[in-house]
Amino acid sequence: MTEHLSIHDRDVLLVVDIQNDFCPGGALAVPRGGEVVPIINRIARRFEHVVLTQDWHPAGHRSFASSHAGRNPYETIEVAYGAQILWPDHCVQGTPGAEFHKELQIPHAELVLRKGYHGDIDSYSAFYENDRSTHTGLAGYLRERGLGRVFVAGLAFDFCVRYSTEDAHREGFEVVVIEDACRGIDVAGSVAATRQALAALGVRCASCDAVARWCWVV
Ligand SMILES: [Zn+2]
Repeated sequence: MTEHLSIHDRDVLLVVDIQNDFCPGGALAVPRGGEVVPIINRIARRFEHVVLTQDWHPAGHRSFASSHAGRNPYETIEVAYGAQILWPDHCVQGTPGAEFHKELQIPHAELVLRKGYHGDIDSYSAFYENDRSTHTGLAGYLRERGLGRVFVAGLAFDFCVRYSTEDAHREGFEVVVIEDACRGIDVAGSVAATRQALAALGVRCASCDAVARWCWVV
């Protein structure tokens, strides 16, 4: 079955973490992460409403391996809210690594949502921090704006894109992942696990070419 749907004024494009530290040369570079910048610039022009997320950690954040003596990046530890992967220091507030990629050009973006600013809690998702109970406020914002369908693109596919997508679904939004406008880190099979998890939820995928044509095909 072929279904063509137009992007309409209740849709929002959620652009996840297109920041220097997640791009080549950055502290937590996602392989080929920079490739998505021109892709996202292009598809963003199709959306009236765009929200950008920005990972925004205080120095010494609990998710940094450097905050735990004897620990290395990509190890997992137990914290109050469960398992937490330790990362290289990244996206520290006010540093160049936390800035958006200089070629990201979405001047009509309506909201920059910062996340990860609580020193003890990481926040992969744009909706909930990693304790799964602290809200970022995005769900309320989207509801008040009357935005009901969320298209997700950005970095990294298997962490912040995944959790944002799952939480958008959990919050009752229709959600579509533009997977070829994402790139993954792939820690211990996390890209494959993400595809499985999103498929199990029934989350739809669209290609950026389809979105660029204002329609998509299932
Ligand atoms: Zn982070």
